[in-house]
Amino acid sequence: MADAQIQYHGNIVDYPEGRHAVSVKSVSIFIAGLFAGFVFGVVIPGNLPGGREHVATDPGRLYQPHGFDRGASRNEVESGHSYEYDVLTQYGITPIDDEESYIEWMLANTGETEEHLRARWELSRLFIGTGELQGERTIAAFLRTPREDFVREANLERAYDDTWLPIGYGATITDPDVVAMMTTTLDVGPEHKVLEIGTGSGYQSAILSNISNMVYTIEIIEPLYYETNALYGRLSAAYPNYTNINRKLGDGYYGWEKYAPFDRIIVTCSIDHLPPPLLKQLAPGGIMVVPLGPPGRQYIMEVKKDVDEAGNVTLKRRDVYNGLSVKFIPFRDEAGKSYSH
Ligand code: SAH
Repeated sequence: MADAQIQYHGNIVDYPEGRHAVSVKSVSIFIAGLFAGFVFGVVIPGNLPGGREHVATDPGRLYQPHGFDRGASRNEVESGHSYEYDVLTQYGITPIDDEESYIEWMLANTGETEEHLRARWELSRLFIGTGELQGERTIAAFLRTPREDFVREANLERAYDDTWLPIGYGATITDPDVVAMMTTTLDVGPEHKVLEIGTGSGYQSAILSNISNMVYTIEIIEPLYYETNALYGRLSAAYPNYTNINRKLGDGYYGWEKYAPFDRIIVTCSIDHLPPPLLKQLAPGGIMVVPLGPPGRQYIMEVKKDVDEAGNVTLKRRDVYNGLSVKFIPFRDEAGKSYSH
């Protein structure tokens, strides 16, 4: 990238050089102390390793009728869906290596404007350069997702600025480079069932729905939930993969037990600890990406969960930005209170 600095929420921070600088320093931690408490107390007596069969790709098991199911609980609303759209039919069809072929293909196949497509292409090159956007599937997903539709109209001009933007209710659409980095770290494949906590604008899940048919997302702010539902509804004619995004209004701290386990979990609100219910719902071999840290300063952590034959759970953590802090909207409970201490 042109300069070696990235602006995060007003703070200028140094960015590590080079494509691999962000990924080589992996730190493996056998979780003791606090974590052992819930690993042995919560995870193991739960459904791991043998209890529940892990069926990530069986649409029958996951089928819900269309429409709204209001029966979940008093405070929860779920959107219904089925896996009618197979995103695998989209794999590999969008040119991602050459700007003119990309623009030409997108103009012929979407209703997007050349101005937005060129701005998106430029951002993608920037993030490929910094190492934040890696892997064919992730690059294609980024290039196919119209960020201009997920920002507020007042911010349309800034849709391709490398910054977060307000989306109302105190929430934000995350900086596009952080979205790229978190998606790259999540390493999603078509076989993975993915859960996002913090639907917000819907942009992150829209990206994920280009990679897997099985995307789940939870939002706690009621009007935002409905607005994003309506947006996906409007966009799904042009982007049929959005019909695979299964949405819930509720508190994401408790995950989504009904569809657990999840192969991938991405948390887009900040917290100072790993929520035990989410770790429990993470499948063995699964990856969670979460902004972890005290209020005001978080580090994006990749958490890998392994379970050995004896049922012992190991969590390995890696700070994906190597000590560079970011700032996210707080993870809150239904009373609006932050989960961080
Ligand atoms: N992924 C979003 C980012 C939104 S900002 C995007 O791409 O636009 C973080 C979001 O997390 C906010 O919308 C906030 O309301 C939501 N959030 C905070 N606490 C939550 C909780 N307990 N459960 C679900 N969502 C929560």
